[in-house]
Amino acid sequence: LIVMDENGETLSCQLRQNLGTIVCGDHVVFETLDTSSEPKTGIVVGLGSRNNILLKSGFGGKAKAVAANIGQVIVVCSLVPKPNSYLIDRYLVAAENLPAKPIIVINKIDLLDEENEHVVNDINTIYDTIGYRVLETSATESTGMDELQSMLADATSILVGLSCVGKSSLVKDLLPDIDIRIGEISEASKEGKHTTTVSTLYSLPTGGHLIDSPGVRDFSPINLGKEQIMNGFIELKPYSGKCKFANCSHTH
Ligand code: GDP
Repeated sequence: LIVMDENGETLSCQLRQNLGTIVCGDHVVFETLDTSSEPKTGIVVGLGSRNNILLKSGFGGKAKAVAANIGQVIVVCSLVPKPNSYLIDRYLVAAENLPAKPIIVINKIDLLDEENEHVVNDINTIYDTIGYRVLETSATESTGMDELQSMLADATSILVGLSCVGKSSLVKDLLPDIDIRIGEISEASKEGKHTTTVSTLYSLPTGGHLIDSPGVRDFSPINLGKEQIMNGFIELKPYSGKCKFANCSHTH
């Protein structure tokens, strides 16, 4: 794995056996081995404590760690394909339980017309009203990108959402210079094929970090307990525990 030191320099590091899973965004303790090689090499000997860890449903339904120490979850949807509020809710529940601050982005706003205008209005009405920040962007026309960039400053964020909503395009717009890549974890797929998942933590020019990973982008939240699901619907919190029917399961 690639480790960034305090000065922003990167080292190619091996991992001491007994440290368990280390994911993108983790803080580690390392020892330098060879400073003459390029990049420098080292060995990771310790794992720092985590504020949080994002899990997704992995192979065979098992929880799989994808990224750690996340401050913001950027839930990206678009006008085409149309947003699915059930899916947005699932991402919000996952974010609230990390906990991390969710921000909703409606991308492809350049495709706005009379027919899909209600989609934007609906999302704003539902989510803005209950306290979530909803941002409208167009990655192709660079609309709303300054605002998105300023919201990403000083936090570690990840983009999540369906395929084809424009996440890669947003990342490319935010990070035009690929050389600012600062960390990378390659991992052979569980099936033993040659497919590789690469999670990368990028330093944003305006401050803050963006974790970009195919595995994170399209993650579906793992099954959470009843309490956690409740915790994920912030608009219901004021009513939690206040039902007048003591034996009500609130599941139907
Ligand atoms: P991802 O699968 O979420 O990473 O989506 P991509 O970034 O690969 O984009 C999917 C498709 O949507 C591509 O053809 C992009 O060119 C297009 N796309 C992305 N952002 C925008 C946008 O803001 N407006 C329009 N019209 N198309 C976009």
